[in-house]
Amino acid sequence: MHGATPEAGFARADMTTFCRLDELGLEVTGQRLTPDHAVLACRVVNSDQWCRRCGCEGTPRDTVTRRLAHEPLGRRPTILHVTIRRYRCINRGHVWRQDTTKAAEPRAKLSRRGLRWALEAIVCQHLTIARVAEGLGVAWTAANDAVLAEGKRVLIDDTGRFDDVTAIGVDEHVWCHIRRGDKYVTVIMT
Ligand SMILES: [Zn+2]
Repeated sequence: MHGATPEAGFARADMTTFCRLDELGLEVTGQRLTPDHAVLACRVVNSDQWCRRCGCEGTPRDTVTRRLAHEPLGRRPTILHVTIRRYRCINRGHVWRQDTTKAAEPRAKLSRRGLRWALEAIVCQHLTIARVAEGLGVAWTAANDAVLAEGKRVLIDDTGRFDDVTAIGVDEHVWCHIRRGDKYVTVIMT
């Protein structure tokens, strides 16, 4: 059949890699597109079925859904609905869920790609928090909290570098400090 094989130099079209979800340990299983936003249903690639406490194998019990704002694609907010499996170990009844730390910080509302998009939008394109929140399809406080938390995380990781800093905050008027050897940018105001 003609058309089944991609042209030379092209890989087969693949939503997971196009949306950079492979970097987050996720795989797209479905899509729901509306004029103003897109939802991608995802699953966690790593099955994660071994008990962290006793090492025995777990049996899947049920699933939970974690919602994450991803980087906007096609000029509309893109939301991930990640299905996370919950397990119970056979021997002792320990329970756990698939690890999603590759996808996002614990309890975060933004995926790692979403967070990176937010930081780059603020620092490189000088977008306001309000505009970033609109781009991600989240509340202003959610965008602001995520950027603040990331700023603090990076600063704490880098102890000693900001010894003279007495107060840290993020504002829409910023100073930029660029981390060594990395395009990643931290926004701080002192
Ligand atoms: Zn166990």
